[in-house]
Amino acid sequence: QSSDQDLQEHIFRSRVPAVQVPDNITLPEFVLKDAELYADNVAFVEAVTGKKITYGEVVRDTRRFAKALRSLGLRKGHVVIVVLPNVAEYAIVALGIMAAGGVFSGANPAGHASEIKKQVAAADAKIIVTNGASYDKVKAFGVPVIVLGDETIEGAMNWNNLLEAADRAGANINQEKIHQTDLCALPFSSGTTGLSKGVMLTHRNLVANLSSTLFGVTPEMIGKVTVLGLIPFFHIYGTTGICCATLRNKGKVVVMGRYELRTFLNALISQEVTFAPIVPPIILNLVKHPIVDEFDLSKLKLQAVMTAAAPLAPDLLKAFESKFPGVQVQEAYGLTEHSCITLTHAGQGFKAKKNSVGFILPNMEVKFIDPETGRSLPRKTPGEICVLSQCTMQGYYNNEEETMRTIDKNGWLHTGDIGYIDEDDNVFIVDRIKELIKFKGFQVAPAELEAILLTHPSVEDVAVVPLPDEEAGEIPAACVVMAAGAKENEEDMISYVASNVAQYKKVRVVHFVDAIPKSPSGKIMRRLVKETMMENIKAS
Ligand code: AMP
Repeated sequence: QSSDQDLQEHIFRSRVPAVQVPDNITLPEFVLKDAELYADNVAFVEAVTGKKITYGEVVRDTRRFAKALRSLGLRKGHVVIVVLPNVAEYAIVALGIMAAGGVFSGANPAGHASEIKKQVAAADAKIIVTNGASYDKVKAFGVPVIVLGDETIEGAMNWNNLLEAADRAGANINQEKIHQTDLCALPFSSGTTGLSKGVMLTHRNLVANLSSTLFGVTPEMIGKVTVLGLIPFFHIYGTTGICCATLRNKGKVVVMGRYELRTFLNALISQEVTFAPIVPPIILNLVKHPIVDEFDLSKLKLQAVMTAAAPLAPDLLKAFESKFPGVQVQEAYGLTEHSCITLTHAGQGFKAKKNSVGFILPNMEVKFIDPETGRSLPRKTPGEICVLSQCTMQGYYNNEEETMRTIDKNGWLHTGDIGYIDEDDNVFIVDRIKELIKFKGFQVAPAELEAILLTHPSVEDVAVVPLPDEEAGEIPAACVVMAAGAKENEEDMISYVASNVAQYKKVRVVHFVDAIPKSPSGKIMRRLVKETMMENIKAS
């Protein structure tokens, strides 16, 4: 018989009072509110080229691009895939799509053509926006392509010409009314299991996430922050956490299309960056790389770095703090399915403990459940993190089954991460039970690599799992059962995968085994595979 204690639900809320989420306002309207008052302020500056875009230009070109898309026939709910590195115009592209009633879906420009093609097909995309460098990857998909920049490419629409044509097209752009409940973004994530899926986010989801995240912003902070725009803008951390949050605060984003340590440090110093959202591998670089010593770090104006997307090792945090004594480290935790940040150190009036991922943001409820029984657990007891809030996705695009597996009937989002909350409301992440591998913060879905390996004629069975790695956090590793008489070695299998996927997804270790351990229901016992691989590596 259950005791009262067993039946009690353990639900935790933020210590920060609830914040109001404005109604009847779309995401572009929310982030560009009052932008005209800051028309001459720089919104985006590219670190390498120096190209600048002001708030006035963001407002103007978002409108022009929305109009251009409508005149091309884009209608509410249509998806536009954006295959671009971080560039000054990125947010204009994304907000323009949303302002036209469309759905912005960012793709990794480093992706293999076949990976981008899958996203285009899964999202039933109507238009692709890219640049000259990636045009060849997308030109054969049978979807109209818009190319950013001055160059004219045969077969593609040119960005400048399109905006100019929109100016000539008059006022009528056949605009449908956009509601907060309409979709505005479709980032891709593999979630707890299987292949990458479209995560359906509405204007409401993102306005709610920003309202919670920015609870501590005071009027004096408006127009003052300079934020590093290095995290890919196609990822939710870049879209919501960097572009939208900075635009809302009328700050400046220093845009970097590619990570290179010297350029990064130069940008931090010369652009007087005050806030840098990054990932743990960059912290490692800043702590260990000798190049850092070439720079006069006393010139830094950096007040804080935010690190999210993957765990930050306690020793690394300590080393960073002693090398950069004036810089606050704000760890944060979030996921695409929850519109971005969920737990954070940032914000006034609450000081989270070191090595925790912070506290629960206002308006969000969190519980930690026993994955076996589903029962919520008391403080200081690790369990699967579940979140209930207005930021939870509407579901996976065209995938009811995975949606139901992830969001329960009471609306709780099951994150696949294990954590606990302590007596002072600090949350700690201790493990991940979902299949997902995080290489330098990038998502790698084991199911995708397994499917590729299974297309190799010599492969009979396979399991892909994460192995810990100091630099990347985790690396994808494969356990492979080869057909009798197969001649291929580890290198052959690594190259086979590498020729089919983006560089960051490639399998980095391959072990040959006689059988893959499976549960009675046929599921790969991933934990066992991982432990066995680690033991074998240690023994060799
Ligand atoms: P994504 O949807 O690509 O942002 O990936 C979300 C996942 O990244 C989470 O479910 C976690 O597994 C992991 N993650 C994000 N932030 C952290 C963090 N601060 N510490 C540990 N893992 C994290």
